[in-house]
Order: sequence, then C-alpha cells, then structure tokens
Amino acid sequence: VDASYNRINEVEDQVKAFLTLDEENARKQAKELDGKLSAAESLLFGMPIGIKDNIVTKGLRTTCASQFLSNFNDPLYDATVVQKLQEKNTVTIGKLNMDEFAMGSSTENSSYQNTRNPWNLDYVPGGSSGGSAAAVAAEEVFFSLGSDTGGSIRQPAAYCGVVGLKPTYGLVSRFGLVAFASSLDQIGPITRSVEDNAHLLQAIVGHDKMDSTSANVEIPDYSESLKDGVKGLRIGVPKEYLGEGVSEEVKASVKEALKKFEELGATWEEVSLPHSKYGIATYYLLASSEASANLARFDGVRYGVRAENSDNMIDMFKNSRAQGFGEEVKRRIMLGTFALSSGYYDAYYKKAQKVRTLIKQDFEKVFEDYDLIVGPTTPTPAFKIGEETDDPLTMYANDILTIPVNLAGVPGISLPCGLSSNGLPIGLQIIGKHFDEPTIYKAAYAYE
Ligand code: GLN
Repeated sequence: VDASYNRINEVEDQVKAFLTLDEENARKQAKELDGKLSAAESLLFGMPIGIKDNIVTKGLRTTCASQFLSNFNDPLYDATVVQKLQEKNTVTIGKLNMDEFAMGSSTENSSYQNTRNPWNLDYVPGGSSGGSAAAVAAEEVFFSLGSDTGGSIRQPAAYCGVVGLKPTYGLVSRFGLVAFASSLDQIGPITRSVEDNAHLLQAIVGHDKMDSTSANVEIPDYSESLKDGVKGLRIGVPKEYLGEGVSEEVKASVKEALKKFEELGATWEEVSLPHSKYGIATYYLLASSEASANLARFDGVRYGVRAENSDNMIDMFKNSRAQGFGEEVKRRIMLGTFALSSGYYDAYYKKAQKVRTLIKQDFEKVFEDYDLIVGPTTPTPAFKIGEETDDPLTMYANDILTIPVNLAGVPGISLPCGLSSNGLPIGLQIIGKHFDEPTIYKAAYAYE
C-alpha cells in the first residue's frame, strides 16, 4: 500500500487515473492487515486495488464521473464484488476515472478530468474504464476492476498494454454496479499478467441472489489449468476481424500471434461472423434504450444533485437533468427514448433484438467447430486526446470488434501483442464459449 501511494505521488498528476483517493483508510487497513499477515489465506491478501467509479463502495464517493452524482459521498452499501474483495483482504486505494456513466471509448466523457495513456501522455487511455487500465499500466495499483458493456474493459486494456477480461454475462454479480445497459454490463478484472487476472476473477465470481441475472453455475479453479498449454486447441479467426478498417500494423501483430499459437501446438483457420458488421448499429439501439430506462432514476429526487430555483416539480426534474448529465449521456437517453417510443419500437428496438440473436448464433456456429476465436481487440492503437471528440460515430467505431462479444454474452480477454511504430500497445482479443474462461486463460497464458 505504501508502494502504491508512493507511485501515485510520483505519476498521478500526469496520468490522472483517480477521481477519489482513500489514503487514510487504506493505510489504516494495511496496518491492521500487517498484524494478520501470518494468517493470510488468499494470494490477494493486502494487495492494493483500484475500483472503477461506477461500482458502489460503502462510505467512499461514487460519481460515475458525472456531475449529477458529485455529491454521492457516502454510499450505504458495497457492491457484491467489493464485498467479495474485502473478504480476501484487498485494500481499496481509490476510485478510478471513466467516461460518464460508462458511455464512451476514451475517458474524455468524464465530467471531471482527462486520464492520459501512461505510454504517451498525449494519447487517450481508451474507455470507458480508462482510469482502471491507466492505473494498472502506470503501476499505481496491482489490479483494478472495470466494467464492460461494449468493450470498456478490453479496449482500454489494449490501449494501455495490460490484460483485461470481460467475463461471461452472468458470471460476476452486477449488484452495486450503476446500470448502463443491464443486458450487456459485466464487471471484470484488469491486471498486468494473465495469471493475476485469473486470481482476481476467482475472487469476484459466483452466484448472487441480489442480481437476478447472476448465473448459478459451478465455478472452476481458474489457475488450475492455466499452464496446460494450447496443444490441439482449434482457433477460429473471423475474416471480418482482419478486414477493412483494421490497420496494417494491427493485422501484422495478430498474424504474428497466430504464428506463435501454431508453434505452441494449436491450429487456426479462417471463419466468419457474418452479422458482426451490424454490431455497432444493434448495440447503440439496445444499449441506449436500456440506458434511457436505467437513467430515469436520476431526477434530483431519488438520486443526484437537485437543481436550484425551479418553479415547479417538472421544471426541477428538467433542470436537474439538464445540468447534471453531460452531452454524450443526453445523446444516448434521447436515442434510446426515441427507439422505444410507440410507432418506432418495432422498426428499431425489436429489429435490433432480432439482429442480436443472429449475432449470437454466428458465435454459436463457430464454436461448434472451434475452441476459441482470436482477433484484434481494436482496429487501431490509441488515438490522440481530442482527436475523435467531435464525431461520435468515429468514436463508436472503436468498439466494432468488442461489441459483438457483449451482444452474444460470451467472455473475451485482451492482452498485449506488440507495439505500433509510434510505440503504443496493440491488443490481442481471445473470445471463448459461455463460461469457458479457463480455455481463454490457458491460451492467453501460453501466448504471454
Ligand atoms: N464505448 C462503448 C459505449 O460508449 C462501450 C462502453 C462500455 O463498454 N461501457 O457505449
């Protein structure tokens, strides 16, 4: 914990990964744990961790990087994942910056500050879990938690050269994760190595009666088969993932990775996910629709800062929302409200649900013959701060290779697979069958 705060003092004014630091409490907790070290049962005992600021932490400010929650200083409960980490005696160092309500791909939608990519401070760390990835890459914490609705763990992990897993939908409890798009949101671990990632996942998984979408499945030991190697593993490489729009450098790194998998005894073949090209359109209809419903609770009464000087109740709602939400959040609420409104519902929302099923079936079909799907995490490495902020559609395109995974509910990891010519990390994405995180980890470990 000392090392963690020393490093934070050294680099945080440049990286700006944290929205809230909890130094006094963390040091106190660490002191207490010092006395119990001999009885430590978990590898995570005493480990400093950072938590994305859309995960509720009892007594510790939780803002979702929104002005609307700037006064949410004293949450009354811990998210299930935070409670589980506490049982393992990790030490929470602070809360990490993100795009407001997890909407974005660069952390520039935070209403507080820009987080910078530790590899080159002129570049974005990715998003929405940009603070979570940057803090791990800058060695401010050993691990962090992020959340991934359309790529928000894997894309920043790729941009910052760290390891990030989006677990199977339902594997990790969403209780205490501020909801963005409930049918897609998953919390997951961001770490420096695959092995660390497996240990952190182990600590946060499991059925939770507080989340009705939490899966009641048997939990494997994720580190048990980690070192088994990839001999005989069959890998599918979607041609859409190495096609138009993906930079030559990224393609070359992924091809190098495939060569390495071959040398390690796996085989690969080209496959197709034909509906993945509709992923972005489908995602932005569904995720925005769900967001428009989920964010209705932020009205200045039940949650959020209340606008002053309103004449009546309706004005008070309107003013609170107008002042509290940033531009991107408003854009999503409007899009979602439109897509769900009568007369448009069938044409947009319902159609998007049908295409979601087709995307899911694409994955199921490939997984009949292959153990894993491998491709890039993102079409390009990180871009410069400010470069894509004027054009939401260009920003949305960052997630073209990660979104289909959320729509299908399957797990996916991003891990580093080389550097671009300007010295920025490139991410390799490994996608598995539902609840088959062990095979993903095995392949990622063998590659790493
Ligand atoms: N970038 C995507 C979006 O803006 C994904 C965000 C996420 O996964 N939370 O919605």
